[in-house]
Amino acid sequence: MKYGKNNKKTKERKREKINYFREFIKIKNHFFKDLNKKLASVKDKRNQSYVTYAPEIILFTVIMKNVSGIVSMNKMTRDFNNKAVINNIAASLGYESLEEIPHYDTINNFLKELEASELEKIRDYMIRELFRKRSLEKYRLMDRYWCIAIDGSQLFSFNEKHCDHCLKKEYKNKETGEVEKTVYYHTVLEAKLVLGDMVFSVLTEFVENETESVSKQDCEINAAKRLMKKLKYKFRKLNICLLGDSLYACEPIYQLCDEYNWKFIFRFKEGRAKTLWKEIEIIKGLENNEVNSNFTLGKQQFIRNLTYINEVSYKNRFINTVDFTETVYTKSNDSSNSDPITKNFVFVTNIKTTKENALKIVAAGRSRWKIENEGFNNQKNIRYDIEHACCLNYQAMKNHYLLIQISDILRQLLEKGSAAIKELKVGIKEISSRILEAFRRAPLISEDISRLNQHIKIRDL
Ligand SMILES: [Zn+2]
Repeated sequence: MKYGKNNKKTKERKREKINYFREFIKIKNHFFKDLNKKLASVKDKRNQSYVTYAPEIILFTVIMKNVSGIVSMNKMTRDFNNKAVINNIAASLGYESLEEIPHYDTINNFLKELEASELEKIRDYMIRELFRKRSLEKYRLMDRYWCIAIDGSQLFSFNEKHCDHCLKKEYKNKETGEVEKTVYYHTVLEAKLVLGDMVFSVLTEFVENETESVSKQDCEINAAKRLMKKLKYKFRKLNICLLGDSLYACEPIYQLCDEYNWKFIFRFKEGRAKTLWKEIEIIKGLENNEVNSNFTLGKQQFIRNLTYINEVSYKNRFINTVDFTETVYTKSNDSSNSDPITKNFVFVTNIKTTKENALKIVAAGRSRWKIENEGFNNQKNIRYDIEHACCLNYQAMKNHYLLIQISDILRQLLEKGSAAIKELKVGIKEISSRILEAFRRAPLISEDISRLNQHIKIRDL
C-alpha cells in the first residue's frame, strides 16, 4: 500500500518535471530536421513591403496552436500574448528576438493567399522522412507493403451558402415534397498511412464542386480516383496496399490499383455485389481453406473461423477473399459466460491468400477503422476540432485543415516517441494542456535549442 503511494508520488514528481514543449521540439528536430527551413520557404504571395512576419513565424504559431489543443483563433491570440511564448517561438525558429506574435487577422490573411500545395509539399517532406526511418519498417504488411487507408469525412456545414465550392443537401418534406431545409457543407477525402497505432495523413482531397453551376455533385469515388492519381504521382515507387470500406470495392478502383501496381484490401458487404457474394457463399461450402483458432485472453474466450478463397470469378476479373468470423465470450465474476458477441468481416483483395497470410490480411483490413477512430474522431473530439472553421474564407479553411494534419503528425510522434511521456501514460488532453502550460511559462534559451539537437532519447516507435 505504502509502496503504491510513493510510486504515485514519484510519478507525479516526474510528471511535473517534464517540459512538454521541450519534448515537442526534440521530437520535431529528431524526425524532421529541415522542417523550419521548409516552413520558411513556402511561396509568400503577400506584398513584401507590408510584411512584418516571415512565413515560418506564422506557420509555426498555428502549429503550436494546434498541438496545444487550442481550437479558436481568438483564444490563441489571448493565450499566446505572453513574453515566454514570444521567446519560445523566436528560439525555436532561430531568431535572436521577436517583438510580438502575429495577430490572428495577419495569420488568416496570409493563409487566404497561400496555395494549399505549399503546405502539401511540407507534409510530403515529412512523410518521406518517415519512410526513411528504419524503425518504421516493421509496420509493413508481410514485410513489403505500406498500408494506406482512404476514407471521407464531413468537415464544415452551414445553413447558408458559404462559397462557390459548397456541396448542397436538401431536406424535403415527405408529404409535400417541398424543400424545408438546405445544408451547405464541405467534405474531405484522406489517404492515411497506418503504422501500428499511429495514423498519418499523407494526402488530402477536398470534395468540391468546381463551379456553382455544376449539376452533378462531386462524389467520393471520383474524389478517390483523383486522390489515387496524386498518391501514385507523389510516391511512385512505394509498395502500397490500399485499405478501404465497402464503398471502394468496385471495378473503377480495382482497375486503378491494377494500373498503379498496388495491392488492396477492401471490406466487402453483401449489398455491394450480390452475385459475387453468392459465389463466395457457394465456394465456402465446397473448399476447405480454413484457419480456425480458439484461445483465451484474460477473461475473454475467442473463437475464430476464417476461410480464404483465391480467384473467385467476378465480371471480368478474379478476386481473392477472406471471410472472418470472431465470437467472443466474456466471463463474468460468477464465472458464467455473458452473451457472446459475434462479428463477421469479409474482405476482397488482390493479394494471393494463403494459410500463412490470411490472418494478416484480416488484421490489415480491420485496421482501416483506425482512420475513423484515431484519424477523424481524435481530430474532431480530442486533439483538435477539425469541424471548427478558423476562418470562413475557403482557401484559409483548407490551409488550416492542412496545418492540423501537419501538427497531428508531430503530436502523434510526441505521444508515441517521447520516452518520458509514454512512460507516464499521460492522456491526450492532458498532453495538450501541458504543452500549452510549458509553452506559456518556461522560455527556452538558444543554448537549450542546440543542446536539444544533440542528445535525445527517442523511444522505439
Ligand atoms: Zn463552401
